[in-house]
Amino acid sequence: MDVNNLRVMSVKTTFRKETTIPLVLSSITLTCAYCNKKVTGDAVRKKFDDKDYFFCCHTCQDEFEKKYMKLLVKA
Ligand SMILES: [Zn+2]
Repeated sequence: MDVNNLRVMSVKTTFRKETTIPLVLSSITLTCAYCNKKVTGDAVRKKFDDKDYFFCCHTCQDEFEKKYMKLLVKA
């Protein structure tokens, strides 16, 4: 058992930042979670409550976040 090796592996896989994802490699069609438009080009990804949401632009992400926070407060 080599604990040190395991640690290095897990650090490597978790370094990704939540910014934009180039969709060039995939043919998946994403829809904006806020305005329901098809997301072409770079999607904005944001994690809420352990779920990944995709947005067509940062404005939609902001608005969704506001809405989401309001829901959280209500609950
Ligand atoms: Zn949008």
